[in-house]
Formats: sequence, structure tokens, C-alpha cells
Amino acid sequence: MGRTFTLLMSGVLAAAALVHGLSPVALAKGEQAGRITVFDGARILDGNGGAAIETGRLVIENGRISAVGTQSAVALPPGATRVDAAGKTIMPAMINVHAHMGYEAYSSWGARNHTAANLLDHLQREAFYGVVAATSVGSSPTEMSLQFQRDQQAGKSAPAARYLFMPGMAPPNGGPDHILREATNELRVINEVMTPEQARAAVRRMADQGIRHVKMWVDDRGGTYPKLTPDVYTAIVQEAHARKMTVHAHAIQLADQKAVVAAGADVLVHMVQNVALDDEYQALLREKKPYWATVITLGDPVEVCNDDAFFAEAMPAAVVARIRANKERVGLTAHCAAPSPNAPNREKTLAQNFPLMIAAGVKLVLATDTGIHPGHTFGSGEHVELARWVQLGLPPAQAIVAATKTPAELMGLDDLGTLATGKRASFIVLNANPLDNIRNTRTIADVYLDGVKFDREAVRRKWREQR
Ligand SMILES: [Zn+2]
Repeated sequence: MGRTFTLLMSGVLAAAALVHGLSPVALAKGEQAGRITVFDGARILDGNGGAAIETGRLVIENGRISAVGTQSAVALPPGATRVDAAGKTIMPAMINVHAHMGYEAYSSWGARNHTAANLLDHLQREAFYGVVAATSVGSSPTEMSLQFQRDQQAGKSAPAARYLFMPGMAPPNGGPDHILREATNELRVINEVMTPEQARAAVRRMADQGIRHVKMWVDDRGGTYPKLTPDVYTAIVQEAHARKMTVHAHAIQLADQKAVVAAGADVLVHMVQNVALDDEYQALLREKKPYWATVITLGDPVEVCNDDAFFAEAMPAAVVARIRANKERVGLTAHCAAPSPNAPNREKTLAQNFPLMIAAGVKLVLATDTGIHPGHTFGSGEHVELARWVQLGLPPAQAIVAATKTPAELMGLDDLGTLATGKRASFIVLNANPLDNIRNTRTIADVYLDGVKFDREAVRRKWREQR
């Protein structure tokens, strides 16, 4: 392609360093020290939702952005390596606030797959598709996760999306869907609490470990599970807020969503799918303005059915074939069956409730639930979720904000989310403009993490060899 110079070299050196067992991040940083790289001529979407910067200039120094603007407003620094990005669109790398990493191994699914190596593989899949940080919610073991984060921060693991996680809380035998429940039981992951005192103690333990977010499952899954009771979830929220933590709540019935929002939950996961939102709830949303992780598509394996190479790229061929051959709808298992008889109703309610939520001022954030069940790949589902929002009436520019700036704010990632001076140079180079068509987020030319080009070809090769 005749572009990318310094950064491409950094990527190559980083890959070489891996082979020799050196720290790739440290080497990449060393290689870059003092180097300035300029991406020149691209349309830049800075993540704030305003008009695109046409014919832009993005200046990167030591992995961070040192200037961004139009070519006429930003001087070309002397000695900089210039990358011709004319015709491309640059947007911030995305941030996923809700997935379930570690269990999927494509040939099998379950607790025994939950290793640091597999977690890294999932984070590489996220990075491959333009995601710079992804969150495992409620389903990953705390000690192992903290260790993984320390290793990643110290530059000990190969380049990948940044790993975020949060512990989960539920009543005994409550919580996630039964397949995930089995896996989390094996690893004793869920904090089971029955009383407000137990709940407060569990939240305090998390706070003492430096954890900033907690997930709670309120839902009774159609009366088949015990529900988290109001006294207990109120205690969780109060204790978490006293410790400057945020609470992500899984509550999909209208009455439960109302109650958790009233109790002060910071993030709603999923959406009410069976009834229209009433005026009382809309008023409450306008007052509280929670974050909202829609999770409409579960990383939508349905798109795999359409022979879309975008999904097949990172998924073993055997898994793609299995999903395509599966014409039965059983639980959440990936399938290519005919739509459920209830699908038109669900769609109608979605079309009604989504704009009401947005109009009430909730803060939309990107989430996929990927990994909750076998047969979902990581990273591609983000693009599906974005397209669904736009289909439901959200302007593409706002969809991009909800995939970048807002989740960075929610997850406390001050150095990510927008393309601004001082932020980390983590961005996606696209061949086409997603403001014209949101599906253009799939036209990924390159992904940069901290100013270093992510070696998409190397991971693609690795996944192909696994087949
Ligand atoms: Zn989930």
C-alpha cells in the first residue's frame, strides 16, 4: 500500500520481540521514542459527534496524540514521518463495556478454557476489529483478572485490546443464563449475596482491591431464578457509590428497570423488550440519565448466516459451517434458523422504546454480550450493534460517540475515547466513511493501539492455522 513507515516497523519489531520473549510493548515504545508520525489527509471523526474534520492531520508522538485538526490548522512537525491517509476516514478505536471473555475456544466452550492465553486471544480478536478496550462483566475470576491487568499494564503480554473486568453479584443460584452459570459456578466467580450486609461486605472487598465497577443480576429469567431483592440491590448501589464505584444492572422487566434506576444504578444492561415504556419510566430516566448498554444483538451470529466475510475472517471455518448448518433455535446458541414467531413483536417494541430511551437522555454505550454462549466471535458484534442503533434511528455520528467517547467516560478511561491532544493514539483507519453508511465501520484498513499498528495479518494467520 506504500504507507505507514515507523509504525509498521514498530509492529514488526514487536512481533519479533515476542518470538524472542522480550517485552513487545517496551520495545515498541523504545523504537518510537522521540519519533513523530503524522497521518495526513484523512477525514477525522474525533469521537465528539460534531462535523468531521475534512483533510485532517493527526500528529502522534510517543504513542499519544500531540495535535489534531485540519491540515491548514496543524503544522507539519519537522522530521516527522508522514503517512498519506488521503481518502481514508480515521475514528477512535471502540470500547466495549459488556462482554463475557475467557470461555469460548471455538472447538469447545467452558470453564477449563478460561486461561490468560485464551483471554488474550479474545482481546486480540477485539483489537482486530478496532476495539481498544473490552470489558468482561461479572463472569471472570477476580484474582486472575487483576493479575492479567497487571501483566498487560507492565507490557508483558502481546498487543491486544485493554482488558477491563468487573465482578458480578446475584442471589444464590441466580444470575446469568444457565450455560454461563455453569461455567461461572465451576470457577466460583459470582458473589452470591442474600442480605444487605453480605452485599455491602462484598462491595467493600471489591473496592479494597481497587475495582471500580460491579455488575448485579436482578432478573428472575421468567420466574425460573431467584430475583435479587430491592433491599439487597439498594445496599449494593449505596455501598458502591460510597466507594466511588458504578453499578451495572441486568434488569430487563419494566418494573425492575424502573426500580433499579430509582435505586441509583448507573448502567442499564439490555432493554425492555416486551412492553412499551410508560410515562413514569421516561420521567425517571430524564431525571437520572443512566448509561445504557443496549446489547441488542448478542454479537449477532445471524449475520454469519449471510456469508459475510467480515465475520468469517476471525472465526474458524468449522464454527462458521456449524452455525450455518444449525437451523434450530435452542436458547442462545448461534443458529441460522428462521426468525422466531415473536421476532416482529420484539422488533416493534424495540423500534418504539429505543427512540424513547434516547429522547429521555440516557447515555448510550457500546456492549455486545459476546462470549455468553458458544459460537460468538469477539469484536465483530460491536459493528453489528452500531448498525442496529442506526437502523433504529440514531444518527451515525451519535452511534460513533456511543462506541468511543461515552464508554471511555463510563469506564474511567481518561486517555481514550476521542482523538484529542494528550489522548492515546488508539484509532481505526477506515476505507470508507461511516457517516455515509454506518456499515462502513467494517471497512477496516488498519488498527492502531497506542500509536502502534496492530498486526491484523499475524493474528489472522494464527486463527487460520487453528482451523
Ligand atoms: Zn451479559
